[in-house]
Amino acid sequence: SASPQPQDAHIERLDDLEISRLRADFPILERSINGSALIYLDSGATSQKPSCVYEAEQHYYESFNAAVHRGAHSLAVEATDIFEQARSTVSNFIGANENELVWTSNATEALNLITYSFANASAGLGGEAAKRFALGEGDEIVVTELEHHANLIPWQELAARTGATLKYIPVDEHGALRMDLAEQIISARTRVLAFTHVSNVLGSITDVSALVALARNVGALTVLDGCQSVPHLPVDVKKLDVDFMAFSGHKMLGPTGIGGLYGRSELLDAMPPFLTGGSMITSVTMEKAEFLPAPMRFEAGTQRISQAHGLATAVSYLEEVGMDRVAAWEEHLGERMLTGLRQIPGIRVLGPEAGAARIGTAPFTVDGVHPHDVGQFLDARGIAVRVGHHCAQPLHRALGVNASTRASTYLYNTTSDIDALLNAVADVCGYFG
Ligand code: PLP
Repeated sequence: SASPQPQDAHIERLDDLEISRLRADFPILERSINGSALIYLDSGATSQKPSCVYEAEQHYYESFNAAVHRGAHSLAVEATDIFEQARSTVSNFIGANENELVWTSNATEALNLITYSFANASAGLGGEAAKRFALGEGDEIVVTELEHHANLIPWQELAARTGATLKYIPVDEHGALRMDLAEQIISARTRVLAFTHVSNVLGSITDVSALVALARNVGALTVLDGCQSVPHLPVDVKKLDVDFMAFSGHKMLGPTGIGGLYGRSELLDAMPPFLTGGSMITSVTMEKAEFLPAPMRFEAGTQRISQAHGLATAVSYLEEVGMDRVAAWEEHLGERMLTGLRQIPGIRVLGPEAGAARIGTAPFTVDGVHPHDVGQFLDARGIAVRVGHHCAQPLHRALGVNASTRASTYLYNTTSDIDALLNAVADVCGYFG
């Protein structure tokens, strides 16, 4: 009988030749920086965009621009179609239904939307249906020590507003989540568990199903920060079985100014709105207002129409390449980068041990050299990386460092980009050593 095929046997792997073709779609990668060709290894902060994305925005303004969901004229109808088609494309990309995707400015706003909505519910807004989101003394919110500040501070604020207690699952000295402690920390008092899918500093992938199972056991809601997973891995919210997920368009080839909040429709429909005003109501008197169901109840005011269209174009681009192939290519780049860095004397690679599941991100420190000096040295060779605390001060503290250097890849990086980084980092050690 035929021997079993590996699961991804049908997937043609990306290679440097194919990547070099694809790079032609990203004109910025032709730039020279300080006399060298740009090597962009800061996609964890924001990705570069293929020209089809901003051409789509330009085309929208040239041919369709109008306010959506309002006018009865043809242009307004066409603009509304484009806007809602974008919702359909992007919701489908993450495995959600159209009415389960709320447009926001970015992941930060999506996470604040949830916490402000819960604060409103806690203040009695939203009536009987919203009571399940109301928090008070004795209730607990659980996050992790891995979180980006965007998935930490809004919960701190919600706890302060409602009297609830904020707890967290710590990391060990390598930055691995202490799953052995999670079961104790998540208790019958836990109402919400909010955690990141992929650490923006370490690139490590969280065991979502284990955490979701613990939350479900105690009837807690789950909120996933998908900022660093949706751009890099195939993500399906129904398979992950989370209640909410936040993500940002600008990290996944899309424009700035657009992101999304996924929420189960029965939850979104019961949550009190965050922002209020035009376009989110069914009827208004001088005394009170009735709100539309989700997603429109959360989309007050004139929306980000060209940006939504640009993000949908980015998503179509990613789908054409194939998220399985994107993930596999970045795994290849990431392994080469981590293995290479570990071999350079004086380099400490942060994060879990070799072999742990990670996206193509490498955080490191150089003995005796401040990350800002590392960043400047690399920039002088055209290599763009991120330095500092990467909006994750508590995680850095847990790792025993103030700051780090992070090189983060995306589908347009080549093997030679990684080799240039490794050579330059080795030279940093020589230069400052
Ligand atoms: N969460 C994670 C894990 C991130 O990496 C980021 C961005 O760096 C954010 C949240 C916030 O994203 P934004 O600044 O696009 O709102």
